[in-house]
Amino acid sequence: MTSQDDMEKDDLNLAGKKKDDGCWDDDCKKQTSGPSNNHQEPIFKFNKGQFKFSIWYFIAAVIIIMLINSFVNTNAYETVSFSTFKELISNGTITEVQIGNDYYLGVINGNSEMPGTQYTIYRTVPVDDVNFVPMLDSMGVKYSAASERSSNIISMLLGWVIPFALIIVVWRFMFNKMGGSGSGVMNFGKNNAQLVAEGDTGTTFEDVAGADEAKEELVEVVDFLKNPKKYLDIGGKIPKGVLLVGSPGTGKTLLARAVAGDAGVPFFRLSGADFVEMFVGVGAARVRDLFKQAREKAPCIVFIDELDAIGKSRLNVAGGNDEREQTLNQLLVEMDGFSAKSGVIILGATNRPEVLDAALLRPGRFDRQVVVDKPDLTGREAILRIHSSEVKMGGNVDLHEIAKATPGFVGADLANIINESALLAVRAGRSEVKQEDLEEAIEKTMAGLQKKNRVINKKERNIVAYHETGHAITAAYTEGADPVQKISIIPRGIGALGYTLQTPTEDRFLMTKQELLGKIDVLLGGRAAEEIIFEEVSTGASNDITRATDIARSLITEYGMSDKFENMALTKRSASFLGQESGMNQKEYAETTQQYIDEEVANIIRERYKKVIGLLKEKRETLESITSKLLEQETISSKEFFDLAGLSA
Ligand code: ADP
Ligand code: ZN
Ligand code: MG
Repeated sequence: MTSQDDMEKDDLNLAGKKKDDGCWDDDCKKQTSGPSNNHQEPIFKFNKGQFKFSIWYFIAAVIIIMLINSFVNTNAYETVSFSTFKELISNGTITEVQIGNDYYLGVINGNSEMPGTQYTIYRTVPVDDVNFVPMLDSMGVKYSAASERSSNIISMLLGWVIPFALIIVVWRFMFNKMGGSGSGVMNFGKNNAQLVAEGDTGTTFEDVAGADEAKEELVEVVDFLKNPKKYLDIGGKIPKGVLLVGSPGTGKTLLARAVAGDAGVPFFRLSGADFVEMFVGVGAARVRDLFKQAREKAPCIVFIDELDAIGKSRLNVAGGNDEREQTLNQLLVEMDGFSAKSGVIILGATNRPEVLDAALLRPGRFDRQVVVDKPDLTGREAILRIHSSEVKMGGNVDLHEIAKATPGFVGADLANIINESALLAVRAGRSEVKQEDLEEAIEKTMAGLQKKNRVINKKERNIVAYHETGHAITAAYTEGADPVQKISIIPRGIGALGYTLQTPTEDRFLMTKQELLGKIDVLLGGRAAEEIIFEEVSTGASNDITRATDIARSLITEYGMSDKFENMALTKRSASFLGQESGMNQKEYAETTQQYIDEEVANIIRERYKKVIGLLKEKRETLESITSKLLEQETISSKEFFDLAGLSA
């Protein structure tokens, strides 16, 4: 439950523009050196079809040889046990013995021509028996060591060639699986298998519903891919990397496919997890290869799904992971190495943006972030409509009702409900889905989601709705506060159960004391609304309280805006390089002053809170009406808000 302004985001964009100007020279250099056709082709290029063929060839050969061998074998030898062999000697059947390394051959009638002989030859595998040779002597059997020549071609094949061939085949096959269809070792890092450019993903924006804001932003990306000239001629800035951020199942992967489908360009999809291999260096090689291919196929889209698998912050990982770090570094190098003009756009997706390495989010990399929200009521209905179009729906089906009953559900959940309901209908022997099927499917899904703590209950929803409306109304009646752009009770990110979005009308670098106090008011508006309506307060406002307290403290210690220490700074920011705050402010006051600061912070907060309570009590009707609308719709646009509040925007 945060009241959030877009200042930070704006700063980011500003920085992005600046940085980009510096990039142009780089582009020119690349342009003059011509298109990069000088890439090296691997020497051993195998294509997948051929390779498969040769495996079958091998297998067939092996089987044939084995057949021949067993055929010849049965004709040539009769294999007997060693005891039988000895018996055959002692009863005089065997008259000649050839002693090989690990076998004995017994020949009848003294015929010593071994291979291909028509006579029966007994073959045995001996056990260590010191009495064997004396027995031969006593029986007068001729014996000799078998000469190596006696091993024929077939046993050579069996003993050496075929095992080797098999090993090579298996080896190739394994590398083929791991490294794409390239020729094994030589193309270790190649990943053609997952990289096959999907010229037409078959997905368009029509297939995505409910993520309107994300869609709007991505339409621009599509337009660039379709008409790059338009942008390049004017010298415009094209995003290089766009990061889709949102909860699992909100349609990030779907959106990326839609971008490629609508733009009609090749689409390289790779999941972050694919990069992380068991061998150090493979991931980095894959990244290199991926971008090489992408450059050849430009304009195209490189989509790195589950970016967090490689992009985890290098700081927070205990011990580090060399492999992932190498991969991440390679990704950064590649992203820097080509220009926005090259026509390769990198889409990333993650549901954990907070763990990403800061380097990934820097200008020139994933410099644009697109939030893919969970769908609101209208969005959910639209998603249900899309997915139900392929299922036979009965006359009594009311998708609006279903959408109403599924707050907190994401696109994937809704697709699942439609599918589940179809299964239920089939199980009941019906040929179309009824409303009851859908309801049962919701219940099933709901139980699972509740276990995962993904849906909040009615009472909490109520609290969240009043809380957010409280922020919004306070903002509307606070002079100088940023206008409300959107109110939502759809959970966004971790810990936030709702949000009120305020967008500044202009870039601000200075704030007056009044404006700072106004910010505190807006932050306290959420809790104040809770107290007025429920006569108790919840933990939902903890972030608001922290931020309000910070501002109040800064007023006194940093900006010199307190009565007692007017125009006097009480702390010194320990600035570090490039303005990154180390977070530690140095105290520059006496211990007794600490008490004054704490009391003064408490005073400011108490006073402002009283004021906000007064305001919201006065506007209680508006608070009620907007909240009920919010509960119904889940999101309220700025226009709706100002209409309901009877104000002009
Ligand atoms: P994510 O990548 O964000 O985890 P996916 O794109 O993989 O989510 O979504 C999984 C499936 O859920 C999609 O294939 C689609 O069928 C369905 N889905 C999710 N979001 C939407 C949406 N906004 N509109 C239509 N279908 C959706
Ligand atoms: Zn709040
Ligand atoms: Mg996905």
